[in-house]
Amino acid sequence: VDPEDRHKGTDGLNAFLHRNREGALRVAKEVDQARANGEQLHELAGVPIAVKDLIVTKGQPTTAASRMLEGWLSPYDATVTKNVRAAKMPILGKTNLDEFAMGSSTEHSAFGPTRNPWDLNRIPGGSGGGSAAAVSAFQAPLALGTDTGGSIRQPAAVTGTVGVKPTYGSVSRYGVIAMASSLDQVGPCSRTVLDSALLHEVIAGHDPQDSTSLNDPVGSFAAAARQGAEDGGLKGLRVGVVKQLTGEGFQAGVQQRFNEAVELLQSAGAEVVEVETPNFEYALGAYYLIMSSEVSSNLAKYDGVRFGLRVVPEGNPTIERVMGASRAAGFGDEVKRRIILGTYALSAGYYDAYYGSAQQVRTLVQRDFNAAFEKVDVLISPTAPTTAFTIGGVDESADPMQMYLNDIATIPTNLAGIPAISLPGGLAPEDDLPVGIQFMAPAREDARVYRAGAGLE
Ligand code: GLN
Repeated sequence: VDPEDRHKGTDGLNAFLHRNREGALRVAKEVDQARANGEQLHELAGVPIAVKDLIVTKGQPTTAASRMLEGWLSPYDATVTKNVRAAKMPILGKTNLDEFAMGSSTEHSAFGPTRNPWDLNRIPGGSGGGSAAAVSAFQAPLALGTDTGGSIRQPAAVTGTVGVKPTYGSVSRYGVIAMASSLDQVGPCSRTVLDSALLHEVIAGHDPQDSTSLNDPVGSFAAAARQGAEDGGLKGLRVGVVKQLTGEGFQAGVQQRFNEAVELLQSAGAEVVEVETPNFEYALGAYYLIMSSEVSSNLAKYDGVRFGLRVVPEGNPTIERVMGASRAAGFGDEVKRRIILGTYALSAGYYDAYYGSAQQVRTLVQRDFNAAFEKVDVLISPTAPTTAFTIGGVDESADPMQMYLNDIATIPTNLAGIPAISLPGGLAPEDDLPVGIQFMAPAREDARVYRAGAGLE
């Protein structure tokens, strides 16, 4: 595989790290042929798809946007890759991301940032900025993303597209390069809610190769989206506005479009109430401890021996020195920051104070959701506190927390394992940039976010 085959700059976006022109064309031709022969094919057969470069694909490189995996070819397909191949969806290529999915802007990619099609000086969100930018710019009708703390939904919000994080365990993680295993989920990116629903049905389902996979039948997501889009489709839907995810800290135009979305729901016959989730205040802190702890463990396998990059230092190349040199050269700053944070949080003597308390907060966040879902069917909030910010606009070396604050509204759902959707809510008046609206539903009730999303859309 030619590492120059990134076509960086040819369209100004850098959404793709690898393009699979011939492969995609071959599948498209097979679909044509099969249709001509009168074969029954899946509804999405022939519809091209872009795949986030954190998901392994046989015959195409997988880099996680890291120097560490540059030139590495997976010997197998992820289960979700297999699923889209089985539906005969041509894979257009692999999309850019923050290195190992750590970030909210796609600026942490080792292969250069992706740009937002709405304004090339702005970020497309992250970590799945490549998938969102490709869909937003009509380079792909559908894409796959992964969402550990918002990496499908926040990019969808700031690029004016749709993104869904499914219930934890409902889509297989087999072959998805692990960031934080108790939080990671694969999900669809698209331009309409129905398109995400159709793709979700392709990728969901029990997988014995993922030990956290639920043994549930795949839900009727497309039917739910169609129901929500009908006249009166939202009648009687109980919607809770999350008080803790509105107001202070949210850009004025984001709040304005959000308020309008809530009014639209009311006029469509939904019953809107306000709900309190007092423990959300601690969710971001807990997430960054749990996530970094799992990151430090999951990334230990990049030792310069088993995968990708190997740097052999001069002198006596002991295994420790090869490992140290490979990791120093292979990982970017943000990845190193999180490995160090996680290693510290898990170290003897600090374990209870940091990891232990973070797990307790996780339980409290789940309780807040449980209490809220006793009163309402779905919850609603803005997806992200601001519209797309300028590339280089957040000085992370001075204050990495500034970047982390982007995830304030998306993280609680990952901690609780519940499903959520982000869909376009119009443009913020002050900067004419897309605003995202988020619906959340109880675990295993993914169909509800499609009904609500399609109704609002
Ligand atoms: N922005 C979050 C983070 O940096 C989300 C990551 C993700 O969902 N992969 O951790």
